Amino acid sequence: AGTLYVVATPIGNLGDLGARAREVLSSVDAICAEDTRHTRQMLVALGIERPLLALHEHNEGEIAWKLVERLRAGDRLALVSDAGTPLVSDPGYRLVREVRAAGLAVSPIPGACAAIAALSVAGIPSDRFCFEGFLPAKASARRERLAALARETRTLVFYESSHRIEESLADLVAAFGADREAVLARELTKLFETVLGDTLEGIAAKVAADDNQRKGEFVLVVRGCEDDTAARLLEGQRLYAKLAEHLK
Ligand code: SAM
Repeated sequence: AGTLYVVATPIGNLGDLGARAREVLSSVDAICAEDTRHTRQMLVALGIERPLLALHEHNEGEIAWKLVERLRAGDRLALVSDAGTPLVSDPGYRLVREVRAAGLAVSPIPGACAAIAALSVAGIPSDRFCFEGFLPAKASARRERLAALARETRTLVFYESSHRIEESLADLVAAFGADREAVLARELTKLFETVLGDTLEGIAAKVAADDNQRKGEFVLVVRGCEDDTAARLLEGQRLYAKLAEHLK
């Protein structure tokens, strides 16, 4: 049987495509892509020509079994998304699940991922982090999600688009407090790459003041909430001591 290769592609700079990714993309029987036009452009730029199949959230369930059949028959297939690592805020989960359930091989060709690239330059604790992907588009749902995350002590990583960056930053300031440390990574690996570190309020102000800072693609890395368990424990002990004094 064949193998499904899950291939990460660059998030901006084509030079980031690795040698193995190039080799696999050049030699597979077909490449399943989120947006075939977008991927064709990338492949042309790389001098690669292979048959392309559209695989997006609307047809994934439907065509997954057809791809499983092709793999069973011995085809080698690649899965790519528009940019970065498939399945990370991108389609592919259902296909990978079905291929694995069929007992067939799924092999990663790792590479760029915007979340990891941002984390690697943020200088915010990265030993533990939560990848939150995109916040909900609706304001009420977004605020609810942020309220639920306000006391998370691990570093938080969000994806954001230019349409909503200002609104999201305003909601983050309201939910997490103006002083929470964050890093806004914009257009990573591209011409206008910027990595802005400040408080949430400071970042919101800089983005509001400069049109250019609202353009492109963003990853926001937010420091987790200070761990206050120790402080609360101490407070509890103090209260207990007071109470014990009174009860003597
Ligand atoms: N699968 C991709 C990955 O591995 O990063 C993410 C796909 S998601 C649909 C697209 C989002 O990723 C953008 O809205 C942005 O938040 C983030 N992103 C992608 N490329 C980026 C870049 N060059 N700089 C900053 N953020 C980027």
